[in-house]
Amino acid sequence: MDDLRELYQTVILDHNKAPRNFGELEDPDRQADGHNPLCGDRLTLHLQLDENDRVVDVKFSGQGCAISTASTSLMTEYALGKTKDEILATKALFHELVTGNPNEEGSTDGLGKLAVFGGVREFPARVKCATLAWHTMEAALNNDEQPATTE
Ligand code: ZN
Repeated sequence: MDDLRELYQTVILDHNKAPRNFGELEDPDRQADGHNPLCGDRLTLHLQLDENDRVVDVKFSGQGCAISTASTSLMTEYALGKTKDEILATKALFHELVTGNPNEEGSTDGLGKLAVFGGVREFPARVKCATLAWHTMEAALNNDEQPATTE
């Protein structure tokens, strides 16, 4: 388990240091802002969707802590090529993983690389850092006018 934890740490640190899909789209179909007041994480998500609500391009910008930046980076990597329904289903699984009972091991079925955030449930103060990206993604997919917030 310790080896796995170390591997997870490495993935999170790597995505924080070199976030994937960082930047902006010139003419996004959808755009949403997210804010986690608890930690101060802020991000803007840009999406390009095809006619089936499939994400064909995604970028994010903003400033956040290591967990929030890595979570957004990994989420954008995951979301590329996925449909709205697939992404919202995974959001529910991810939410369950990071908010579950800290004394139990969460299920990582269907989460792939996103499983690296399984340890976050042991740190309630960081849960919102990990979920901000997903709240913002949902707001963008639903075309919400209001910025997404973890509060
Ligand atoms: Zn944070």
